[in-house]
Amino acid sequence: MICLSIQAMPNRLMMSKAIANQGDRMNKLVLVFSLLLFSNLLSSHVLAFEKEALNNHGEVNACNIGEVRLLNDFPSARLDVCEQVSDTVFNIVLKPENKPINSSPWYAFKVVATQPTEIKINMKVDGKKHRYLPKVSTDLKVWSLLEYQDDEDVRSLTISAGPKPTYIAAQEIIDNQVYVDWATQLKSSKDIHYQVLGQSVQGRPIYKIESIKSDNNKWLVLLGRMHPPEITGALALFPFVETVLADTKLAKQFRSQFNILIVPNINPDGVEIGNWRHNANGVDLNRDWKTFAQPEVSAIHEYLQQIVKSGATLNMAVDFHSTRYDVFYTMPSDYGVKQPYLVNNWLNSLDAKYADFSVIQKTGNNPGKGVFKQYFADFYQAHAITYEMGDNTDRTFIKKLASDAANTLMETMLQDNKELNGE
Ligand SMILES: [Zn+2]
Repeated sequence: MICLSIQAMPNRLMMSKAIANQGDRMNKLVLVFSLLLFSNLLSSHVLAFEKEALNNHGEVNACNIGEVRLLNDFPSARLDVCEQVSDTVFNIVLKPENKPINSSPWYAFKVVATQPTEIKINMKVDGKKHRYLPKVSTDLKVWSLLEYQDDEDVRSLTISAGPKPTYIAAQEIIDNQVYVDWATQLKSSKDIHYQVLGQSVQGRPIYKIESIKSDNNKWLVLLGRMHPPEITGALALFPFVETVLADTKLAKQFRSQFNILIVPNINPDGVEIGNWRHNANGVDLNRDWKTFAQPEVSAIHEYLQQIVKSGATLNMAVDFHSTRYDVFYTMPSDYGVKQPYLVNNWLNSLDAKYADFSVIQKTGNNPGKGVFKQYFADFYQAHAITYEMGDNTDRTFIKKLASDAANTLMETMLQDNKELNGE
């Protein structure tokens, strides 16, 4: 089970309190100045307050004051340009961290009202169209779909706001702390190593989870969250990893022959800031696997190089993402990797488990693009796949498929290993 409880980080907590205190102070000041009719002073002080309530782009967020407030004071939040149209109507424009960008408009904010109020929020995307169906939660754990109406490019939501925060987001929020809590649980129950592999642009730790047996010289690599809003990929990685690290006969046999490296959260800055796709330098990490210019990518590259230099081989990698539908991007079987049919055999056996679901394999070869699966084939002559879950795929199904995918991959790799060893 994935633990979705979230502990606010201390600095975040302090920041939100500071903003709240400033808000109370400023409201009192505004009242006094209004009574004294110092209109010039009033406007300059309101402006001074608004300047402190900035969004992720450093722009004024005008929805941070008044009876109903829209706030972005929590991890993974993103509230771009917000304009209060009336007491109960708000307009939001979703903006990317930088351009050009592969459009995945992420948003996450909370609504707080001094008394129960029905409000309307109109959301528009800067550039392309909406990608995600709006979701609502009151505890950041249980999420449900929120009804909406589209009028051309404006998506409208109606929300019952009250003193208790109502969270609205593009997908379920899985912030950096969720990964830490999850990995800590994994580590406490098994012989698993959990360490810092490197640091992000903004100095956040990038963690690795490993299962290592000293006699093993073959590796499976699992990566996740290069693209922050791709939550369904993350929802697949958790059960996949739990299955390969489980106490089942198959998983134990697998771990007695293969080491496993897991880097579940490669882009912690993007996750924290609520980016649409990039890291804190504004770079798509799944285009950096040729220059290794970004610290997140170079840390993993250098570690994989170390493994190979030690005489071990990298045999297979799975990189978890999300897109419009469920699809597995693979390298061609005749590309020249060591075990040409490993991926075909794996995904065919996964497909055979489902009468009413097709495992779609899309084979491609994009030299020079800087995509991880291409890098893995070119540098290590081994298969890697991009495991893509649909944005709207049923969450229970994602979990079941990931667990079946992990089991069938272990079976296939063990079978291949047997053949390689001439058994
Ligand atoms: Zn992606």
